[in-house]
Amino acid sequence: MGILVKTPLDSTLLTRSTHPENLLSTAKALAESFAGRAAQFDQSRSYCWENVQQMADAGLMGMTIPSKWGGQGVSFLDTVRVVEEIAKACTLSARIIVESNMGGISAIMAYGTDEQRAYCAPIVLAGDKPAICITEPDAGSAATEMQTSARRNGDHYILNGTKHWITGGGVSKLHLVFARVFDEVGSALGIGGFIVHRDPTSGIEPAGFEIGRRERTMGLCGMPETELHFKDLKVDAAMAVIPPSGLKRGFAELMDAYNSQRIGAGTIALGVAAGAFDHARRYLKQRQQFGRPLAEFQGLQWMLADMDTGLHAARLLLHDAARTAGRDGRIFPDKTAAARAKLFASETAIKVVNDALQMFGARGFGDQEPLERMYRDVRMFTIGGGTAQILRTQIAGQVLDMKTPQTRSGYDSVEIELKPSLLAAE
Ligand SMILES: Cc1cc2nc3c(=O)[nH]c(=O)nc-3n(C[C@H](O)[C@H](O)[C@H](O)COP(=O)(O)OP(=O)(O)OC[C@H]3O[C@@H](n4cnc5c(N)ncnc54)[C@H](O)[C@@H]3O)c2cc1C
Repeated sequence: MGILVKTPLDSTLLTRSTHPENLLSTAKALAESFAGRAAQFDQSRSYCWENVQQMADAGLMGMTIPSKWGGQGVSFLDTVRVVEEIAKACTLSARIIVESNMGGISAIMAYGTDEQRAYCAPIVLAGDKPAICITEPDAGSAATEMQTSARRNGDHYILNGTKHWITGGGVSKLHLVFARVFDEVGSALGIGGFIVHRDPTSGIEPAGFEIGRRERTMGLCGMPETELHFKDLKVDAAMAVIPPSGLKRGFAELMDAYNSQRIGAGTIALGVAAGAFDHARRYLKQRQQFGRPLAEFQGLQWMLADMDTGLHAARLLLHDAARTAGRDGRIFPDKTAAARAKLFASETAIKVVNDALQMFGARGFGDQEPLERMYRDVRMFTIGGGTAQILRTQIAGQVLDMKTPQTRSGYDSVEIELKPSLLAAE
């Protein structure tokens, strides 16, 4: 685990306040200082502990946590506005902001017990980016086919299984691990979430929790994506996050919290693309060919106009989706609105960054400019957190008012039997 190193930043720029404009100016000030070192984290494949400390000091980590638990109760809308600013400069830091404010921590704040909230909030506010652990080697898009099991044994659960592609594996302290839940006699109850705390720097190293292989990724290189292995891992029953409607519907409810993270992910893509767009816009005015600035060529002007329109539309969809949270008794953003927004923003962002890179010619292909890093980073966003295909299926289901089961049997895969061997470590 890295050490939190403070690097100097004009502290008068860091206004710790829930006022949306203050949050935005804080984010802009931080983004300015992050831009210079984004390449360094990419090249060294290292986690940006310096940025984390600054974001925590500025109150951006865990800002959506309600004030009762020490946060600021910032809305998802104001959060995504902050995320966009940070993502323009540093994708890695933007991902950390999203995951400390949306997703796992939101599920705990919404469905957890007071004891769980009081336990987790200070850890996040101090700078932790909780890991959300759903995906397994044989359960990607078909997440409900997960095989990780949690078997009740007295006052605790015993977890067995393997997750992979877990963002923050090895650096995150809090983990929300999704598993199939079984009672003491082995009857399946549904899918639940389990809070698992690991922090070797404070001597918290639960037995049976191993960090596995780290993926070597094309982009977002400073963020570890790892396997996690659970071998008879003991988790206190008080750390089980069971949504109000119980375990049978629990997974759907816990995944509702994920809708906020989807908006966050779409906004990171938007921010990276908006950053690339700004670089390209400035460059077109500076660079001369054929005796005049590139900005004077209509072929490039029209590209720029399409990029601008796409970014604007993506931002509207994302903000519209963020506004659905809190409406009609909903805690989290509407599922379809979040799917539409992430789908459109991620696909648009990839195109915008690609076009921005094109405008730089050879320079865009080299590492003197940030475009090649942005291009590698933004590519992920049609994959992680719900692929573009799965999001389209979800939107189509809503449009047609039809269930769209993807299994051949037509049943929801949550009914799939667990392999008996996974109830206990081998
Ligand atoms: C950088 C990164 C970070 C991630 N972080 C996390 C994390 O922190 N926690 C976590 O739990 N997971 C994480 N994931 C995993 C991510 O959620 C999965 O990659 C995603 O759900 C897709 O699963 P898969 O990769 O197994 O692809 P698969 O499900 O195997 O899909 C392969 C391809 O087939 C398509 N496909 C699959 N089913 C259908 C269908 N029914 N109809 C049409 N097309 C279909 C998919 O769209 C995809 O193009 C991360 C992934 C990445 C890349």
